[in-house]
Amino acid sequence: MHGGRRALFAANWKMNLLSSDIEDFLDDIIPVARESAAELVLFPTSVYLQKVARLTEGTEVKFGAQNIFWERCGAYTGEISAEMAADCGAKYILCGHSERRHIFSESAEMVTRKARAAQASGLIPLICVGETLAEREAGETLETLRNDIFCSLAAVGASADLVIAYEPVWAIGTGQVATPEDAETAIAYIRELIRELWGDLADEIRILYGGSVKPENISDLMACPNIDGALIGGASLDADSFAAIIANGENC
Ligand code: PEP
Repeated sequence: MHGGRRALFAANWKMNLLSSDIEDFLDDIIPVARESAAELVLFPTSVYLQKVARLTEGTEVKFGAQNIFWERCGAYTGEISAEMAADCGAKYILCGHSERRHIFSESAEMVTRKARAAQASGLIPLICVGETLAEREAGETLETLRNDIFCSLAAVGASADLVIAYEPVWAIGTGQVATPEDAETAIAYIRELIRELWGDLADEIRILYGGSVKPENISDLMACPNIDGALIGGASLDADSFAAIIANGENC
């Protein structure tokens, strides 16, 4: 816990894991969540939201949807709404993950609309921001973060119930983790940007690091005062490795 902010470890399963994998995972992770002071959130694919809801009922494990569309209902083939995710028991919505921004061409405005729709359904947006390798090499990291944060937050309601994940695009799924110093610099800067917009609420908002987090590197990241947890892709697919990240990270 940093500055009164409860640590959060979130598993982004992307388009992975089948029914029986999810059952095995939860058999292992529910006891971990019971003993942990941190908040644990799973992001399964939307077809398994109800399954995860059923398996986690009455436990400390929370879950969210990896993506939603901003309209409440209508002729939007293939989409799900925030209201539907909430109806399944979701608590969080992942917004603006780099794979959504870069593979599915989601603009900053679309990310904002999704985050706003999540809030309107009583869900917590977990908004991802981060620079590409080209932006980093051009020395544009802070400018990118400023644009991402100002675009994403300008139109959502000021709330402590919002989570930001700093995910440098070059670190996602590459095995190339940001150094704790670089991650802390970027995340401290994001907190100052939030302060510009929302004042002291910035001290209550949790900001996670994401990008090649593993059991071996989480302690050094979590030792940084502004890093409140992690959004984990690859290493969250295996319950032992997710549990090791929680164990190594939660008491730093
Ligand atoms: C992610 O997808 O948000 C992520 C951080 O992936 P990985 O941990 O595999 O880099």
